[in-house]
Amino acid sequence: MLICASCSQTASDHEPTWCCCSCGGYLTLLNDKLFPTTELSQRAATLWRYREALGIACSDNVVSLGEGFTPLLAEELGGQRVLFKADQLCPTGSFKDRGASVMISKLKEWGISRLVIDSSGNAGASVAAYAAKAGIVADVYIPSYTSGGKSAQIKMYGANLVKVPGSREDTTAAAVAAASESFYGSHNWSPFFVAGLKTLAYEICEQLAWQAPDWVVVPVGGGSLVLGVYHGLRELLTAGLITRMPRIVGVQADACSPVYQAWKNQKGEVTPVPKGPTIAEGISIANPVKGRDILSAITNSRGLLVTVNDEQIMEAIFTLSRKGIYVEPTAAAAPAAVNVLRQRGLLQPRETVVVELTGSGLKATDKFEQFLAMREQSN
Ligand SMILES: *Cc1c(COP(=O)(O)O)cnc(C)c1O
Ligand SMILES: [Zn+2]
Repeated sequence: MLICASCSQTASDHEPTWCCCSCGGYLTLLNDKLFPTTELSQRAATLWRYREALGIACSDNVVSLGEGFTPLLAEELGGQRVLFKADQLCPTGSFKDRGASVMISKLKEWGISRLVIDSSGNAGASVAAYAAKAGIVADVYIPSYTSGGKSAQIKMYGANLVKVPGSREDTTAAAVAAASESFYGSHNWSPFFVAGLKTLAYEICEQLAWQAPDWVVVPVGGGSLVLGVYHGLRELLTAGLITRMPRIVGVQADACSPVYQAWKNQKGEVTPVPKGPTIAEGISIANPVKGRDILSAITNSRGLLVTVNDEQIMEAIFTLSRKGIYVEPTAAAAPAAVNVLRQRGLLQPRETVVVELTGSGLKATDKFEQFLAMREQSN
């Protein structure tokens, strides 16, 4: 069953739907089932090992490219022990594959043959890949400023790429208008996309032998990731599989930090902010649809929000690269935030700090080329 976040109206998940038919709010999947933990070790190392919690009725409809169950890498950052959740290794190079695999499986179950999505890049690539695998036509709307690498990847998967001039928000408006002719399969709206992201929480806890970490650090753009992690942890807590809630740290870019601003000013709602340029394009969302829920997820976990600037992000990219870990700028916001937490004295040496790495450095080749050229010039 699906429930509306605004008016609590419920809807069946047997019919195609992407928003509340009463008020237009976004929907969340209510599931009362978890997976049988004793059987997990016999199941494949993909996120579908948790299939009972993902809302897909028939396993014939599962659309999988082997996503999930990424390594948890033990490292240190400025003297702090951390565990990197290596989601940059997902099939299309970003964690969005967790959401796309489950969302596209549901679209297949519903018999949808064509979808529209708007994306700043990674969600478009991910949905294009899974749509290709499922035989669904994908129309992917991206802002015209999206990096060349990301748009090439989307096209290679066979999606129809539509470049929209103007802001990220203009891209959404164009996609929603086009969706009246097909189906709006947006990562920012689909309850099944968020359901897929719960697997991040399941995996982290399973990989830690069902001991919850002390902290989970994730970047926040539209907020599906932070909500998926929170819902997943809550389910584990309710089922008694873990005994305490980790503190969730949401990371935003200085140049675009609507959720951070609302949290700092103790507001219950997120209001749009003017945004400046940042290399963290994947979290540059001025008006996140799920603002209120993001704030309560952070607060309920006794977590906090942190902002980082481009310089801190670049520094984190270099630090990680020197350890052999290659991530894109948006992903590096999370390890950059660990330095901020450490400098504020918030982390204890013995605490378990899990840092989600959301996207691969291979996504940002053009940005890194520019950056290296600039650096060589100034040397
Ligand atoms: C989409 C994305 C994010 C932000 O995820 P949200 O669910 O929108 O908060 C962070 N990092 C990367 C690499 C992304 O592609
Ligand atoms: Zn509603």
